[in-house]
Amino acid sequence: MAIEPRAGILDIQPYKPGAADAPGVANPAKLSSNENALGCSLNAVAAFEAAASRLHRYPDGGATVLRDAIAHEEGLEADHIVCGTGSDEILQLLGRAYLNPGDKVVQSQYGFLVYRLVAMQSDARLVSAPERGYTTDVDAVIAAAGDDTKIVFIANPNNPTGTYISDAEVRRLRDALPPTTLLVLDAAYAEFVDAADYDPGMKLARERDDVFVTRTFSKIHGLAGLRLGWGYGPKAIIDVLNRVRGPFNVNLPAIEAGAAAIADRDFMRRSATHNATWIAYLQQQLGGLDLEVTPSVCNFVLVHFPKTPGKTAADADAYLTRQGLIVRPVGAYGLKDSLRITVGKEADNRRLVDALADFMAK
Ligand code: PMP
Repeated sequence: MAIEPRAGILDIQPYKPGAADAPGVANPAKLSSNENALGCSLNAVAAFEAAASRLHRYPDGGATVLRDAIAHEEGLEADHIVCGTGSDEILQLLGRAYLNPGDKVVQSQYGFLVYRLVAMQSDARLVSAPERGYTTDVDAVIAAAGDDTKIVFIANPNNPTGTYISDAEVRRLRDALPPTTLLVLDAAYAEFVDAADYDPGMKLARERDDVFVTRTFSKIHGLAGLRLGWGYGPKAIIDVLNRVRGPFNVNLPAIEAGAAAIADRDFMRRSATHNATWIAYLQQQLGGLDLEVTPSVCNFVLVHFPKTPGKTAADADAYLTRQGLIVRPVGAYGLKDSLRITVGKEADNRRLVDALADFMAK
């Protein structure tokens, strides 16, 4: 007889990462995983290489050097930070620590897919609140949450939509939720946002004991391959996460490269500037092709295709792949008529626009 996993585990569809190759095309442009078009900080590379001589050593289980560097650069308290193997791990730890079977978890309709996995891993119930214009609708989240929700996950800004809600809206949401509901703000793309009314939520998490923020080194810092993320929030939550995480959950090269990366403000600025330039280009050019493009504050755009045979998202995806341009279908989010396209290097962005112009004109 098969050994049975816990209830609900076999209902989980494993997360499917963005494709990495285009059959038959050498050196395709990978615009499928919201990676940093500029690579990463050279200081981070140097720190990673310097760590190579110490791979036989265990890392510092508390990732002290890294938490101190984050605290210093972001103006936070190191003892309110926990680091993890990607912000994915922080999200998983929150589920492991706080969700009981049957608990209610609320997300926004097109919320990042990992929230579903986190809920299912704990046999919790996931409820999705409808969005308006591909944007979190705070009233719908409040209505969905009611007074019996354990965790509300809001990616702000959200992947795959690229949209955000203002700090005032986040605060209105928090004020309307009961104190027994933990509000998790996933600010993976925070550093790309240049909107006066946006805030990643660190201030709110400092003010309250029911808000937790997750951040990542995978996007603006360009360290997706290293798997490094962090969370910030009340000491009581940090204490709980420290009990459920692995004792050495962040590896030694990641600690050291991460500390170097977060101190490289110049690389971060260059990444944000590159992104601002090319996200504007993609939105303008693709919009000009009669494609609906959801306005994005992230390093990707969500593009909506017609249902006309030959012009669908699936057709466009196949066409782009043949041209060596790998983008991300988002059917798993219920967005089968859309593709998510990551900002790339200048040449890749231009190729992408040219290819889609040809596709639409055919
Ligand atoms: N949150 C959001 C909204 C994301 O888009 C991603 C990456 N796709 C993550 C979290 C996880 O990032 P990582 O585990 O690389 O830190």
